[in-house]
Amino acid sequence: QQQKAEVERKNREIEQAKVVLEERAQQLALASRYKSEFLANMSHELRTPLNSILILGQQLGDNPDENLNPRQVEFAKTIHAAGTDLLHLISDILDLSKIESGTVTVDSEDISFAHLRETVERSFRHEAERRNLRYGVEFDPRLPRVLHTDPKRLLQILKNLLSNAFKFTEKGGVELTVRPVEEGWNPDNASLANALTVVAFAVRDTGIGISGDKQRIVFEAFQQADAGTARKYGGTGLGLAISREIAGLLGGEIRLASMPGEGSTFTLYLPLNFARDEDEPVPVAPHTFVPRESTSVASPAPVDEVSDDRHHIVEGDLTLLIVEDDPRYATVLRDLARESGFKTVVANRGADALRLVRDYQPTAITLDIFLPDMLGWTVLARLKQDSATRHIPVQIVTVEEERHQSIERGAFSYLAKPATPETIEAALDRIKQFSLPRVKRLLVVEDDEKERMSIEELIRHGDVAIDTVGSGEEALAALAANRYDCVVLDLRLPDMTGFELLDRIQTHPELKELPIVVFTGKELTAQESSRLKKAAKSVIVKGRRVP
Ligand code: ADP
Repeated sequence: QQQKAEVERKNREIEQAKVVLEERAQQLALASRYKSEFLANMSHELRTPLNSILILGQQLGDNPDENLNPRQVEFAKTIHAAGTDLLHLISDILDLSKIESGTVTVDSEDISFAHLRETVERSFRHEAERRNLRYGVEFDPRLPRVLHTDPKRLLQILKNLLSNAFKFTEKGGVELTVRPVEEGWNPDNASLANALTVVAFAVRDTGIGISGDKQRIVFEAFQQADAGTARKYGGTGLGLAISREIAGLLGGEIRLASMPGEGSTFTLYLPLNFARDEDEPVPVAPHTFVPRESTSVASPAPVDEVSDDRHHIVEGDLTLLIVEDDPRYATVLRDLARESGFKTVVANRGADALRLVRDYQPTAITLDIFLPDMLGWTVLARLKQDSATRHIPVQIVTVEEERHQSIERGAFSYLAKPATPETIEAALDRIKQFSLPRVKRLLVVEDDEKERMSIEELIRHGDVAIDTVGSGEEALAALAANRYDCVVLDLRLPDMTGFELLDRIQTHPELKELPIVVFTGKELTAQESSRLKKAAKSVIVKGRRVP
């Protein structure tokens, strides 16, 4: 009895100790989360003032009025350079703290290897030429067309590895090879072991190399191979730490092989398809709708009666995805599209359409609203939710009353049923015009000089031509004289209110489709914002603090 009591007492003690330990662990986790959150907020607060330092520093450094002496220009440039360094440092710290606190989300999508190649080649070609280094990029022909991962994060890692390789190489060159591999990664890595295909991105340089004892620590935050590195090459020692963490987030890892004096090879291993949620059921629009057949879908097959060009599409083709369940109408659309110079892919179901969009990345889509498995609205909503497909112009084909709804939900244009060949041709033509690379024209309507400058500064880009006007009347005159692709509009104008201007724009039928961005610092009342929504087909309201 006594022994039993003794054992029970001991058990209770152990239980208590366990509770205390758990509490401590929780406190620790909480503290580290607070720390990360603090860092995240602080970095954000630091960046805001830094932005003006950078913009103004650069402007001073450019010395447009030529009223600064060379020394002063040098100072301005130093301010700008130091600000840039600081900004990088802040971004890196923020990145790392976000990853550590687990608040980083991975946005996977399909990216084509061709596109990836083009991006990495372009990013470093200049540097290679400038430094007189060889730069080779090689993609194995056995690779499939696309890879499913977070493109932004993947590029972040590759750019970091490549810029390190260039930084630490004086002669010789840098080489990136991408190929499918069977081995090379750490066998304990479950994500890679379970992947059907693993892709290795190897960045090899002929630079200074890293000695064996330093190969581990270079992946730690703020660590560099030796104390002289920062002085000689700059840098913060955060790049590899971040890259390693991101590689883990993407289900992969980075390995290093190096010989001092001979060069280094950093290899990023990634699963070809990261967390592909292909089997996720496609949500079907609620109520109102009864599927005509089962929604579980086999692999997308061409519509029985309508053959298309899906097997003859090459990079650079204009492609039109036709989503239409009536085979006769699909055939008509297909033939007209071919005449207009499009290659076509035809789908008769929403689920097929969504897959085909991912596989073919069409130039444009025509979408019928009544499909056998879901409403076209659902397809449209899914396309607009995904950043990989959001930009693709979608033309809705349905009855007149739904015009407004189409545009409001993000359709590019609208085709009323029944349509004539002429209207279809005209519509296809507009899509084609829209997809051609060309300079787009933007009209900025803003009376405040400073605001005008900052908007222009914000949007200035090689393929956007910006006109600015300061009053409502001037805006109407400009709109009558030129064809604009978009208008940015301030609600507060000297001669009329923005609302009035919107109303007057509405009276011109040819301006009905013109997208208008209302840029205002004002908090809008419910009434005002509903008036805005009615007045223009596409209104985005932004506050002054969200450039
Ligand atoms: P940073 O480059 O900002 O110093 P990183 O985390 O990217 O920070 O790299 C950490 C250290 O690893 C570098 O300072 C350098 O000493 C070493 N290192 C990284 N890449 C290479 C390379 N390709 N060749 C030689 N040393 C390298």
